[in-house]
Amino acid sequence: MKFYFVDVLILTVWSLSNCQPVEQSTNINSKRLPTNIYPINYNIFITTYLPGFEWNADERSLTYEGYVIIDLEVKESTDKIILHSDSTEIVNAGLLSNNSEIIHWKLTPDDQFLTFYLNRTLEKGTKTQIFIEFRGKLRNDLKGFYLTDSLGTNGETIRNAVTQFETTDARLMIPCFDEPEFKATWQVSLAYPTGAVGLTNGIEERTFYDGNFTKTKYRKTVKMSSYLLAIFVGDVQYKETKTDGGLRIRVYADPQNVDYIDHALNVSKLTVEGFEQLFGIGFPMEKLDFVSVKRSGASAMENWGLIVHKSTSILGSSEYVSEVVIHELAHQWFGNLVTMKFWNQVWLNEGFATYMTMYGISSIYSNSNFDFSFVNYQEKAKANDHDLTLNSVDTHNDGSIGVPNINYSKGSSFIRMLEKVIGTDNLLKGIREYLSENSYSNTEDIDLYKSLERFYNRSENDPSLEEFGRCWTHQNGFPTVHVETINGKTILTQRKYIKIDSEYESFNECGYKWDIPIWYQKFGEEEIRMEWFTKDKNELELNVDGFLIVNANSYGYYDVVYSDSSYESIAAEFRNNSQMYSDSTKFRVLKDIMLYEYSENYLHSALLIVDSLKNSRNFGLLKSANQVVTDVKKKLSFSGTDEDLEMIKRFETKLIEGNAFEGCEPSETFSSCYQNNFKMFSDACSAMKLYGNDQTSDRLLKWLKIEETDGNKEQILNLLDCGFWRILIKVLNDKSYNWPLYIRQKFPIYFQRKERKLAEIGKQPKSRSFMDFESFNQFIMRNSNRLSKY
Ligand SMILES: [Zn+2]
Repeated sequence: MKFYFVDVLILTVWSLSNCQPVEQSTNINSKRLPTNIYPINYNIFITTYLPGFEWNADERSLTYEGYVIIDLEVKESTDKIILHSDSTEIVNAGLLSNNSEIIHWKLTPDDQFLTFYLNRTLEKGTKTQIFIEFRGKLRNDLKGFYLTDSLGTNGETIRNAVTQFETTDARLMIPCFDEPEFKATWQVSLAYPTGAVGLTNGIEERTFYDGNFTKTKYRKTVKMSSYLLAIFVGDVQYKETKTDGGLRIRVYADPQNVDYIDHALNVSKLTVEGFEQLFGIGFPMEKLDFVSVKRSGASAMENWGLIVHKSTSILGSSEYVSEVVIHELAHQWFGNLVTMKFWNQVWLNEGFATYMTMYGISSIYSNSNFDFSFVNYQEKAKANDHDLTLNSVDTHNDGSIGVPNINYSKGSSFIRMLEKVIGTDNLLKGIREYLSENSYSNTEDIDLYKSLERFYNRSENDPSLEEFGRCWTHQNGFPTVHVETINGKTILTQRKYIKIDSEYESFNECGYKWDIPIWYQKFGEEEIRMEWFTKDKNELELNVDGFLIVNANSYGYYDVVYSDSSYESIAAEFRNNSQMYSDSTKFRVLKDIMLYEYSENYLHSALLIVDSLKNSRNFGLLKSANQVVTDVKKKLSFSGTDEDLEMIKRFETKLIEGNAFEGCEPSETFSSCYQNNFKMFSDACSAMKLYGNDQTSDRLLKWLKIEETDGNKEQILNLLDCGFWRILIKVLNDKSYNWPLYIRQKFPIYFQRKERKLAEIGKQPKSRSFMDFESFNQFIMRNSNRLSKY
């Protein structure tokens, strides 16, 4: 039985092909779709057979079936229609207009092309419609249309089904033109067992009941790429708000977790209102839904109007939840409204979303250190910047490798440079033009540069933004700037970063040179100046007297190497004039110093810088200083002077004698102490790692006993997770705390271990087994990698 809608019953008059699909592989050089036919609109009808609701499951349980009618425009005459399909069974197909008929179709697994061969040519400029009936199984691998689950009100497991299509997995569910450039409108209708909730990108238009099934027709979407289509069917409830402009926002979660979505709802309202003003473009869909799912390969997915979040990135009130919500909302403009032409330029999506997240976070959290938050992305990017280019000139990223992390970290670091080169206000003006001129279409990086260039007041000899961007995004790696003082003059030279993989040396367009914006700060002056070090020059002489710090505020995505004598001067300057230099500047100097072993005394120089920073209350900076001390001690050849040993001792004593909350009164509440001491969670987390002592953990446990809100309790658990994992396991296993479900789901590994242990011995274990430190570190590393992939 099929659950079609009355208004599509005319389907029966169409003559359908009886051909069976032929599965065979062909040698097709390019995996890109031909551009002779474009989709204009998809009409999709899907029935999902999900057990557990008001429907007696039969052999169709855990499957879906449906059909799609695609309106097509013929751009070049052709006798073939080629689109994507993979793993879904094609049941039937036919053309609904023109005099042409499908004579047979063929699926080629290599490129996932579904080719329909026609009996006569479709002429250029004509329109036609193709009808394709299909069915498939709900998957288990977090791709396409897959199964996830939730906990029912009586503790039972309930199956839910949800889609994840980015990058190239829409074709796993629905035959479609599955490349970002083939934008079309999508009209979706869903049939699902009564009792379940059905969601998709568009707002619901009408719903009716047919036996045990509910059928809902949703309003047609705006023009969008296939990877942004989304469908959810399952057991959820929601809370709702409206923006000042009247946009309906709902956050859906399973019934047991619906009390923990208020924060996400508030952040999304604020952010949508903020972004609408900032970009000058209203959110174009009629509603915005978020849905929390337990199983997801990503933290969240920005489907237009139906953002799917993994439960751990939407429940509760952590800064991480805010970050992910803001990131996905940035995509509603950067990615959904204006989309990259192809996957090799996905950094335009992810770089901007990451960059805009920092802006969103700094408006919501007044404590945040806006500049300092970028240095983490720079360091993440540099650690991975060996093989992939941001803007692959080949087909290196055809979508099949997903979205590598470098697109987020280096993408946002490069955009940060653009901002500082042309000015924040100019960047914003350029972005507004870029978004409004390219709405509902696709772009390449040159379109972005074109918009920004209009607001860039550059001198004649300065590189154009396109030229600047080409060498930073087409080349892997980044430059190192060497600073030397010769006869009182400051001379800079640039060399490529030493760890660049030779595999990509073949890309020679820029010869591993870069147009480098040199930001520098003279000793004793607050102003940060900029001068271009273009790639055609062998060296750059800075016309300034006295010492200076290069890459001040860490605006640039490059490393700097100084001479030993310069480090002595910088350390003295940091000691004597500390307030003159930002934490980002200090962090940059500290990071750069350990990367290179050019000088005999670099370990001594490193300790001088560490010593100059030991009184900082920026715990991220102190954590890096601590890492430098650890590295210095590890160097086997290191035989420290008395002065070196004294500096190490001074630094370590400060850590041993201090605690993370030493600035707080004994009776101070957790919230007040947290807000007064730390800039953001990452800062507090660094403090937990630095001061892993009893005083710090005792204070946390004391607060945990008296705190009443779940949000504060969760934050304390998060802090324990940073530096006190043994205590965390103990606390999480303590039933007297009566942890809500979302917290238990957030730290699943601890609970799974406990449950397994209980099942093994059939009783409460007397002593608990712990992970060793190394496996725990690996666990955290694995998870932190996953977290950045949203
Ligand atoms: Zn993203």
